[in-house]
Amino acid sequence: MNLEGSCHCEAVRFGVRSTHPYPFNLCYCSVCRKTAGGGGYAINLGADYSTLQIQGEENVEVYRAVLCDKNSGTTKESPGQRSFCRICGSALWVWDPRWPELVHPFASAIDTVLPAPPERTHLMVGSKASWVEVRKGRNDKVFDGYPDESIADWHRRLDLENEGA
Ligand SMILES: [Zn+2]
Ligand SMILES: [Zn+2]
Repeated sequence: MNLEGSCHCEAVRFGVRSTHPYPFNLCYCSVCRKTAGGGGYAINLGADYSTLQIQGEENVEVYRAVLCDKNSGTTKESPGQRSFCRICGSALWVWDPRWPELVHPFASAIDTVLPAPPERTHLMVGSKASWVEVRKGRNDKVFDGYPDESIADWHRRLDLENEGA
């Protein structure tokens, strides 16, 4: 399906095609929580980076988180590039050069009506804030770290891939 998105001040608008548009993937990591997750988590969608079209690109800034390795104590910059509006601060999408064909828009930035997911995946729960309650639905999966299936695999398992218009 075609996803249309925008930041809150509308200085940035974008469109992207997605075969994996269900907002089921709730990330509780500190970066998502601080930059995009007022409720304690952010929701990323899967979309096709080659189809991303941006209006107002001059207002898009990129943030790369600096992550600290708990074991070694060393810090390194995350390869994930988080785009946001430099005027209103809205989180827009994440692009990671390790998976260059994908882009992950934040569901919160999407204006198109998204389909409601029949079940959810809660990931990076080991990093969640203490005040955040994981509201686990009947078939939901919960992971301390990264989940055992990708956004694409989740859609395939539930036969929810959107190949049409
Ligand atoms: Zn804005
Ligand atoms: Zn995250």
